[in-house]
Amino acid sequence: MSYNYNPSSKKAEEFINHEEILETLSYAEKNKNNVELIDRILAKARLRKGLSHREAAVLLDCEIPEKVEEIFELARQIKQDFYGNRIVMFAPLYLSNYCVNGCVYCPYHMKNKHIARKKLTQEEIRQEVIALQDMGHKRLALETGEDPVNSPIEYVLDSIRTIYSIKHKNGAIRRVNVNIAATTVENYRKLKEAGIGTYILFQETYHKESYERLHPTGPKHNYCYHTEAMDRAMEGGIDDVGIGVLFGLELYRYEFAGLLMHAEHLEAVFGVGPHTISVPRIRRADDIDPSTFDNGISDDIFEKIVACIRVAVPYTGMIISTRESKACRERVLRLGVSQISGGSRTSVGGYAEEEPEEENSAQFDVSDNRTLDQVVRWLMELGYIPSFCTACYREGRTGDRFMSLCKSGQIQNCCHPNALMTLKEYLEDYAAPGTKEIGEKLIQAEIGSIPKEKVQEIVRKNLVEIEKGQRDFRF
Ligand code: SF4
Ligand code: SF4
Repeated sequence: MSYNYNPSSKKAEEFINHEEILETLSYAEKNKNNVELIDRILAKARLRKGLSHREAAVLLDCEIPEKVEEIFELARQIKQDFYGNRIVMFAPLYLSNYCVNGCVYCPYHMKNKHIARKKLTQEEIRQEVIALQDMGHKRLALETGEDPVNSPIEYVLDSIRTIYSIKHKNGAIRRVNVNIAATTVENYRKLKEAGIGTYILFQETYHKESYERLHPTGPKHNYCYHTEAMDRAMEGGIDDVGIGVLFGLELYRYEFAGLLMHAEHLEAVFGVGPHTISVPRIRRADDIDPSTFDNGISDDIFEKIVACIRVAVPYTGMIISTRESKACRERVLRLGVSQISGGSRTSVGGYAEEEPEEENSAQFDVSDNRTLDQVVRWLMELGYIPSFCTACYREGRTGDRFMSLCKSGQIQNCCHPNALMTLKEYLEDYAAPGTKEIGEKLIQAEIGSIPKEKVQEIVRKNLVEIEKGQRDFRF
């Protein structure tokens, strides 16, 4: 290797090294029908300790139907072992769509003059949060465009404080994840102090040249500053970070290798990989036509990407949004996705009041338009337990502490009972009668699968207390 690839380097172009990605892709291409190698990689993956980006790239390229089925089967098993049948629920909350950047795939880009620009006041945030609480949400992902004048860090911090302070009926937002533009160590420290859960930032594309072309103007144009953001976030004390790419901008094989190299980098430098990986695909939106991006991926490829990520980084949660249709979500839930949004509005202020059509402020068109209650019911009918759990970061289980519990499998002792208790809260406070009926049966059927009898006993007692009006039990 004559190029400068170093997962432990702090420099973007060394830990996401272009030549290393090209070498990886050519290695994968050469070996995509190498049964012996594929079997060795699958055997390693079965140990559930993950794969390198090179190994995972070979699996992604593999075209032998029986081997592809083995990859899918292993992904399903790993999903079951680490995440059981639980799916964590969340909703995005858009604070502001003012943006100084020029991202060509996003309707919030600065030059778009026909989108309605909005920024929520603290009172409007209150209304949004009450509407979200009334749906049953406990976990939010905060979204805002980059604009130092309209949404400086102080505005984001004030908004987080407002969100956590609202207690409406039995509602509470217990975890605020934040997806804001790459910023300084000092600002990350402030976000940490404000009590955020995960800091989420999508790379969009790991391909530097394409990145610069797709982000022609604004601070986001700086590839290295953007790519090194998670390092600064971790330096600022945020130990749960969420990475992702926008599939469709560049060749998916390239992005896949980049994503895994980013995860390897965080693990090498900070001893803990990303908390989550998001897999958005480009969608239609105001001023944006996805067909202008010629790297779109089919549902079949998308499914394969999800399966290969699951096998390569078993401990990392995987998130999918309402960009994807019900049918597509159903396919990828089985293969590895552990968190989904439900009842989402992608416009600024879309929860408290539906936005009139002429005032479109949405970031993308939603494919799954169902209410949260419909999504909850659908999940249960498919045999999943919708979970509103937010326990870990509130119990200080973050970063390497979380990862070691995850790796030892002990986290299951918390996830399962917490899923049942938070679902019970949802059923008591927000569910439609039909949803409630299905949910009660599901909870009764699932208590028995809590491994420790002592924990089963506590859960049974807490479920009775929840019926009496108590809230927020957690392990
Ligand atoms: Fe702004 Fe983010 Fe949209 Fe880019 S992707 S235009 S940074 S809101
Ligand atoms: Fe997530 Fe922790 Fe709750 Fe499990 S216990 S669902 S890992 S927050």
